[in-house]
Amino acid sequence: MGSTTKEKITSVKHWNDTLFSFTSTRDTSLKFENGHFVMIGLEIDGKPLMRAYSIVSPNYAPELEFLSIKVPDGPLTSVLQNVKIGDELLVSKKPTGTLVADLLIPGKNLFLLSTGTGLAPFLSIIQDPDIYERFENVFLVHGVRYVSELAYREFLEDEIQENEYFGEEIKNKFRYYPTVTRENFYNEGRISDLLVSGKLFSDLGVGKACVERDRFMICGGPSMLKQLCLILEGQGFEQSRQGVQAHYTIERAFVEQ
Ligand SMILES: Cc1cc2nc3c(=O)[nH]c(=O)nc-3n(C[C@H](O)[C@H](O)[C@H](O)COP(=O)(O)OP(=O)(O)OC[C@H]3O[C@@H](n4cnc5c(N)ncnc54)[C@H](O)[C@@H]3O)c2cc1C
Repeated sequence: MGSTTKEKITSVKHWNDTLFSFTSTRDTSLKFENGHFVMIGLEIDGKPLMRAYSIVSPNYAPELEFLSIKVPDGPLTSVLQNVKIGDELLVSKKPTGTLVADLLIPGKNLFLLSTGTGLAPFLSIIQDPDIYERFENVFLVHGVRYVSELAYREFLEDEIQENEYFGEEIKNKFRYYPTVTRENFYNEGRISDLLVSGKLFSDLGVGKACVERDRFMICGGPSMLKQLCLILEGQGFEQSRQGVQAHYTIERAFVEQ
């Protein structure tokens, strides 16, 4: 009935004071593309309170997974961060979004550029075997302020390579590039600076940015999105609009106030 289904929380993991992730049951009729977001929420004071969330889990997984910020006094997340196994989660029946591989002109290298919880849709995409058919290299760049915000780091550094279906392929084609701005780390700096200086490309061993070869998906806050779009446009890359394939595609994964 209605536009949502009622699911049950099946696990919860707190990464730090500001981030947590959780899984839920998945209605068998829910279909989505890897990279999509969906409205999820809780019934609060007898009314549904829904927010957009990128789906972390790949579309073949039996459960749904989400990565969430904990906004102090955030209407949804101040309650959602306390969910427990067995609690009810509302999930809308219509996932959607523009962070999908079909919106990119075929290329050789796919750069997935994220900050904060903008990592979420890319976790789904990198677990899609089809992405390794489309691209020779898939680079996942995750920018955060502190090392403790590198959610899924162990999974991305090691565990993903153990996947029985595409682990071998990932060893050759997938690279994880975390970068930190406010602490010492093996990669430091903002993604925008790494793009402008070309350090990102040289660190990943691909020379300079190249319109014929490189494709991008971007997910993060409004100012990060604006900055990265400007940089890419300045280098000759065009954004996918109205369903037309181009060199890069974005999702607005943070709500502007
Ligand atoms: C397409 C889309 C996909 C999204 N996917 C995710 C996701 O996968 N995970 C997730 O945690 N959020 C995601 N969001 C944001 C999410 O919809 C909510 O805004 C967030 O859960 C906070 O809800 P709230 O009711 O507690 O606070 P809100 O009233 O929604 O937000 C309060 C304040 O927190 C800031 N804020 C909201 N979300 C974030 C965030 N993720 N990181 C940093 N600051 C934030 C807002 O700018 C705002 O100032 C997405 C938003 C959109 C539009």
